[in-house]
Amino acid sequence: MKDWSSGRLKSFITSTIRSGFRRYPTKYEALKEARRGKKLNPKSGREAMHYECASCHNEFTQTNIQVDHISPVVDPLIGFVSWDEFITRLFCSRENLQVLCSDCHLKKTKAERLSAKLHKMQKGIIPVRNSQKSKKGTLGLNEDNALLKIIQGKQK
Ligand SMILES: [Zn+2]
Repeated sequence: MKDWSSGRLKSFITSTIRSGFRRYPTKYEALKEARRGKKLNPKSGREAMHYECASCHNEFTQTNIQVDHISPVVDPLIGFVSWDEFITRLFCSRENLQVLCSDCHLKKTKAERLSAKLHKMQKGIIPVRNSQKSKKGTLGLNEDNALLKIIQGKQK
């Protein structure tokens, strides 16, 4: 094995364990319960199984949905605790799983990621960058400025 940093090894282990979730029987239960029957898919012109999104309640084909952990595998406000905790939260009970469409899932993960970042900035774990100090026009910068406003707003 190459000389991996501990961060790289950790992310390798994380993704390896996460990939096992695809075959998790409880995940299939959640999918099965979200089924709303076969309907015509206007894109393909064929009948396809549709699933209801737990957030927007619209119906989507399987390629446009994800099984989501309601309480995220890694709590954004706590961060990684231990492999025991990670595995227990990943392979959770049916109650903590929901079917979301890709859009709703993206919004939720983005909100979780932002709240994790905000939390780290407030704790001083990562630096707060602002537009004067960083390169202009990067996506991460806009995000940092938005977070900065939230932090400043809370400190007033
Ligand atoms: Zn949705």
